[in-house]
Amino acid sequence: MSIALITHAACELHDMGRGHPECAERLRAIEQQLKASGVDKLVTRYEAPTVTREQLLRVHTEDYVQSVFDASPQRGYRYFDDDTVLNPHTLPAALHAAGALVLAVDLVMQNQVNSAFCSVRPPGHHATRSRGTGFCFFNNVAVGVAHAMQMYGLERVAIADFDVHHGNGTEDIFQHDERVLLCSTFQHPFYPYCGADTRSTHVVNVPLPAMSNGAAMREAVNHYWLPAMQAFKPQLIFCSAGFDAHADDDMSRLLWQDEDYAWVTTAIKTVATEFCNGRVISTLEGGYDLPSLGRSVVAHIRRLGEL
Ligand SMILES: [Zn+2]
Repeated sequence: MSIALITHAACELHDMGRGHPECAERLRAIEQQLKASGVDKLVTRYEAPTVTREQLLRVHTEDYVQSVFDASPQRGYRYFDDDTVLNPHTLPAALHAAGALVLAVDLVMQNQVNSAFCSVRPPGHHATRSRGTGFCFFNNVAVGVAHAMQMYGLERVAIADFDVHHGNGTEDIFQHDERVLLCSTFQHPFYPYCGADTRSTHVVNVPLPAMSNGAAMREAVNHYWLPAMQAFKPQLIFCSAGFDAHADDDMSRLLWQDEDYAWVTTAIKTVATEFCNGRVISTLEGGYDLPSLGRSVVAHIRRLGEL
């Protein structure tokens, strides 16, 4: 089955300072593993366009979007919060990262590809409607979901977020929108210190304690995500694909392995095959240990192409 790999050179120029874990080497590690594994030959490559202001305003406030444009420095660094920083290339990177999701939706909904992986940065799932934080400026996955609903009239879109951090931004944006089912797992208690107490018919948050392994994630997915998705019958599934729950990733204290990322991808893909012709649009969120990030992304893309 055809898979789009969407990225843009601008995403490698965004830099938040020496030693920052959310760095350009992450995308290079993914590229190296794609080539080393041969998975490079299974994907069709596309260059991410820039998102339009109109597309951003479907999920962010006008004041917030303007504040990101205004913060873009001519030179040097400008701090957005303690660990979210702009250099002169950040704004273009963020516009292409969100634009990747728009292109992914168009390619998948027009049947040019079956699934897509957006290998982009900055990530997005901590960006709320009116605030950027946690390495995120624009909520890329939310931009894609809103585009799918607005342009293709979709009424049931699911998001699977398996990043180790709770996708508080995505939850903020869609908390009152029953067209969107949000399923997530995350380490708790842990940054951003929310999500465990959410009570909603269309938000399925499964907090996992530190030191949980892949078996705990699989149980959460089998017990909570899959029944919710099957009842919801999604017309399209998005993935906020973070790889920072990996045992080798010292950002967190969850203990997943490469094969757990393969497993969760197949679980999501199985639902997509049953309800929406296998259509899955995935975008990179976290993942900071470069070797395990590269391997796990490759395992994820391989499984997106199966079934
Ligand atoms: Zn994360």
